[in-house]
Amino acid sequence: MTENRELELYFHIPFCVKKCLYCDFLSQPASPLVQERYMEALAREALGRAEEAEGRKVVSVFFGGGTPSVVEARLICGLLQNLREVYGILPEAEITIEVNPGTVDAEKLSAYREAGINRLSIGLQSADDGELAVLGRIHTWQQFLETYYAARKAGFANINVDLMSALPGQTLESCRKTLESVLSLQPAPEHISAYSLIWEEGTPFYEMEKKGILSQAPEELDRQMYRETKRTLAKAGYERYEISNYARAGYACRHNLGYWKRRDYLGFGVGAASLLENVRFRNADGLSRYLENPLGCREQAQALTLEEQMEEFLFLGLRMTDGVGFDDFADCFSHSLEEIYGPVIEKNLRQGLLRRCWRMDGAGRRQEMLALTEFGLDVANYVMAQFLR
Ligand code: SF4
Repeated sequence: MTENRELELYFHIPFCVKKCLYCDFLSQPASPLVQERYMEALAREALGRAEEAEGRKVVSVFFGGGTPSVVEARLICGLLQNLREVYGILPEAEITIEVNPGTVDAEKLSAYREAGINRLSIGLQSADDGELAVLGRIHTWQQFLETYYAARKAGFANINVDLMSALPGQTLESCRKTLESVLSLQPAPEHISAYSLIWEEGTPFYEMEKKGILSQAPEELDRQMYRETKRTLAKAGYERYEISNYARAGYACRHNLGYWKRRDYLGFGVGAASLLENVRFRNADGLSRYLENPLGCREQAQALTLEEQMEEFLFLGLRMTDGVGFDDFADCFSHSLEEIYGPVIEKNLRQGLLRRCWRMDGAGRRQEMLALTEFGLDVANYVMAQFLR
């Protein structure tokens, strides 16, 4: 299943207007000057590493963060232009940028479209202004609406909206309202990502919980919201193609699918990770160091053993509702899935957590798949952990 001649590019833009209170991503506010220097460093890194992509077809480019849209559009578009000169970006490549409401206007969105960006991922999280304020988000529902419709007007026909549930103080009713509000957009988004809030150590939320100022949603309420999200989006015609990702037919995020299928990718920028020919590597986190020497920040590479590759194949692949192919596994590793994981597979089939099914793959080949059942998807971490030795 590793599609080695295809490649994805990821650019980490570590800037935000201000830090959300739950966020542990590598991001911070920065002056326009620092942002410009960073974008120059990104270009230096990307151009300096172009030979690693020689002979590869780039099927997707992803500007993630942080909030890439805080950076001036000319810097993003200029970088993309430079990339096209040295990387084999396919004309039909999926090119995504993450944006937050309040950080883009009609002009910026048009510049993205003209540069060939064809997918927008908008961080909304909730349609309730009170919840947005608790999260420390910089925007309101109204600002989201303005961004969403400006994006449609600019010609974006592939939009993802990020949602979060199990927020402090959130009720099942307000979770429902957020889903309804997003589904009532005209037209509704092509893609929705829906995650439960995670209370990460080191974030203000984590500290506030320790001090008793905020509390996590009870487990049962969290599960109710999760089930409500699944039900509502299925009813509205979205296919759940990954544990937390839903899309209209044909709009699954190709970039993320590549990650779960272990397609090679090169990540650029602070803290960005890469996978190339079964070697994983990552850039260090420090911004100043990166600005000085973007080509000298790569940390020690980890060449994956065959066993680790197999584990990743299952651990990542089972996140997709289609699951993993028996033939794909055999093609990659010259052993059958049963040979390597027979007892684990049998046990989980018996417990109703895994299922065997058939599907046509992209190459028109009908193959048998191993996938999580509906129940297995609810306890995915438990099932997947059994494939780690
Ligand atoms: S906008 Fe996203 S990356 Fe930035 S602080 Fe908020 S959650 Fe973190």
